[in-house]
Amino acid sequence: MRMVVTGGAGFIGSHVVEALLERGDEVHVVDTLVSGKRENVPVEATLHELDIRDEALVALVAELGAEGIVHLAAQADVRVSVARPQLDAEVNVLGTLRVLEAAQGVGAKIVFASTGGAIYGECDAPATEESPRRPLAPYGTSKLCGEEYLATYNRLYGSTHAALRFANVYGPRQNPHGEAGVVAIFFGLLAEGKQCKVFGTGGQQRDYVYVGDVARATLAAFGLDGGVLNIGTGRATSDLELYRACCAAAGVEAEPLFAPARLGDLQRSVLDITLAGELLGWAPERSLEQGLADTWASFAP
Ligand code: NAD
Repeated sequence: MRMVVTGGAGFIGSHVVEALLERGDEVHVVDTLVSGKRENVPVEATLHELDIRDEALVALVAELGAEGIVHLAAQADVRVSVARPQLDAEVNVLGTLRVLEAAQGVGAKIVFASTGGAIYGECDAPATEESPRRPLAPYGTSKLCGEEYLATYNRLYGSTHAALRFANVYGPRQNPHGEAGVVAIFFGLLAEGKQCKVFGTGGQQRDYVYVGDVARATLAAFGLDGGVLNIGTGRATSDLELYRACCAAAGVEAEPLFAPARLGDLQRSVLDITLAGELLGWAPERSLEQGLADTWASFAP
């Protein structure tokens, strides 16, 4: 297939591009390189340095005759969304509308990267796709808005665009300043022999999913007839457990520095992935221990 990957020079995008190339697709990356890197784009793919908000995107997608679009380009930093909500909405809402307009022009199908943690907010139990949506930051609201635009276009035009709500994604090439860069932050500091900070008691729980598993789910989602799916592991890992697992992968024995809890940090965010199993026949394959070992190999000095 002829595929466009927005945000393909970023962390998750670069793994999606690799997976598409591996199955023999022609791949075009649209990225401003604001947080992504040119070297993340394999030479077999074509990089178009363009902002998704730019109307030139519509002409580019038409000229390429794209059949599918993986839409990952985003303002993906929760703290930036709090500080600059307008910018967040411009990129995540208006940018997504531009991608929808471009897809509409050529009848291409979109798979959109949404977020679980930032949309569900605090979760007492693993969140299903039907759980209440309680974003605690503008980032979750702008992603939810993107999902709703996809669903509206599906109703209006009969398209089958699908959204995936990712849990905390980790793996090689992760940007430590992103939404869930804690693994990259820990490994970066451990590689330099520096002490890592754990906030509060370290008891906050998250759902960590390996980027290769996320790329596989993204490709499989082109078979969906629209809708929204959680992509995670269903397994809760506390910050302290994660820190210890990172130390084990790095072969380091060191105590973290406990810092005061941060205002607005979620206590618990875990996704129920039953529906992804039923509709995609997908399940995560990499355990946390294996995934961390692969990730450390890319960080090790
Ligand atoms: P990333 O920052 O590594 O990748 C985002 C890419 O988008 C970068 O290459 C950046 O240069 C590009 N970009 C940003 N604004 C752009 C614009 N206006 N036009 C064109 N390109 C632009 O982040 P990531 O972690 O790979 O996240 C990818 C997607 O997955 C995002 O949509 C994010 O919201 C979503 N997501 C990520 C996680 C996670 O744990 N990393 C969790 C949930 C959802």
